[in-house]
This record gives sequence, C-alpha cells and structure tokens, in this order.
Amino acid sequence: KTIIDAHNVSKVYNPKTVPVHAVQNVHVHIEEGEFVALVGPSGSGKSTLLNMIGGLDEPTTGNVIIDGVEITSLPENKLIDFRLHNIGFVFQSFNLIPVLTAKENVGFVLQLQNMSKNEREKRVMQLLNEVGLEDKVNSKPGELSGGQQQRVAVARALASKPKIILADEPTANLDSKSAGNLLDIMAKLNKEEKITFLFSTHDMRVIKKARRVITLVDGKIDSDVEQIPT
Ligand code: ADP
Ligand code: ADP
Repeated sequence: KTIIDAHNVSKVYNPKTVPVHAVQNVHVHIEEGEFVALVGPSGSGKSTLLNMIGGLDEPTTGNVIIDGVEITSLPENKLIDFRLHNIGFVFQSFNLIPVLTAKENVGFVLQLQNMSKNEREKRVMQLLNEVGLEDKVNSKPGELSGGQQQRVAVARALASKPKIILADEPTANLDSKSAGNLLDIMAKLNKEEKITFLFSTHDMRVIKKARRVITLVDGKIDSDVEQIPT
C-alpha cells in the first residue's frame, strides 16, 4: 500500500527575485513499512523535500499524497489536523521545549488531542519506555544528553500514533554511539509497529541501516536503490 506519493514536486524559493530551484520535478513513491534514507550533498534539497512531504512547506508545483489524501490541496486548518494525526517529525536540533520535562514534552501533543489526564499519563510513560527513557521522565532537555533528547523527540513524534515519521538529519548532533542507538530504536519501531520512516542523513553508518537509499543531487533524484541493511 502506497503511503507517500510525491508526484512531480518542485520548489522554487524567491521566484520573483533570485529564484532557487531547490527541488525539481521529483517523484517519490514509498510503500507502507519502508525504511528509507534520503541522502545527498548539503543544499541538494533534502530538507525542502521532507518539508513538502510532511506538509510543512508547500510545493511550487506538483502534489503530495499521504495515505491516499492529497495534502497539497487541503486548507491550512485541515492540513494541521492531518499532520497531527498522521505524521511525526524529528529534527536535527531536537526542538524540545526547554522548560518542560521529558514527560511534559511528550504529553503536550496528547493534550492538543484532548486526551484525558489519566490516559495521557499512561501513554506518555509507555512512549518514554519504548525509547528507553523510563528513568528520565522528569528531566528537562538541558539535563539530558543529545542522544536522550533525540529519543524524547522520537517519543513525542510517536505520541499521535503516526503511520509515518519524517526525520531531518536526526543524528547530525549525536556522537556515533547515540546515533547507533537512535537508529536501532527507529528500526525496531519500523519492524514492530510498521511505522514508515523517511530520514535524511549524511552519516555513512546511518545510511547502511536503511533498506532503501534515495540520493538527491541539485534538487533531482540521482539514484534510488534497495539494499540489505547492515
Ligand atoms: P539540504 O537539506 O539537502 O541541505 P535544502 O532543502 O535545505 O537542502 O536546500 C536546497 C536549496 O534551497 C539550497 O540551495 C538552499 O540554499 C535553498 N533554500 C532552502 N531553504 C530556503 C529558503 N527558505 N529560502 C531560499 N532558499 C532556500
Ligand atoms: P546517549 O547515548 O543516550 O546520548 P550518553 O552516553 O551520551 O547517552 O550519556 C550518558 C549519561 O551522561 C546520561 O545518563 C546523561 O544523563 C549524562 N549526560 C550526557 N551528556 C549530558 C549533558 N550534556 N548534560 C547532562 N547530562 C548529560
């Protein structure tokens, strides 16, 4: 079953002044349960493509269809709602709220969905447990290592039970041990919960864990290959 279908998408920044053709006529077709790395040099359009697939940025031309819904034509309020329920995001800079504890950073998303306090508490503990942070629930981001902060971000991304997680250079700020640990958690979620992952990366060790590698060069797909993860 197709879960991500980016059809002939292009993005031009500053069309009226100094146009930047960040992504050009790209097709990406991803089936449910895939574990895909998006690679390519800095400036090749990886973030732009991820943002368009996730509905954070609107393509200049083309359409994005997520789980059968054409998100490019959704009005803003419907898009926000769709994102909240279907797509989890993980960013290289973690993007946690510094004054909130791990538990609160994850629970916040569930609060937006009007989940009761009891239910929320249970779900948050379960999520933090899944990423191995059961003993850090009351720590604030500043009290956690980079690897731990990113695992909180993954737990937060999982909170709304998304079918897809999009991650933009999730290991860029992690040492190699923490990066490996994070990838193992992602691979486990992919295998056990059938969550589809699409993550951009520069890291050779991370690329090797993917089952499919899409390479962007100058905003175009240069190659798209399946591999046996090692
Ligand atoms: P990558 O993630 O592969 O590093 P990006 O998607 O961030 O690539 O950038 C692709 C191209 O688009 C680059 O030339 C970058 O400078 C340009 N770009 C990205 N975001 C913007 C923006 N908001 N305004 C103008 N140009 C941008
Ligand atoms: P991870 O593999 O998850 O990144 P580390 O091996 O980096 O974890 O961290 C080991 C321990 O050191 C953790 O329990 C963490 O609490 C502590 N620690 C590491 N970095 C920091 C930091 N920048 N601030 C506070 N504590 C840290």
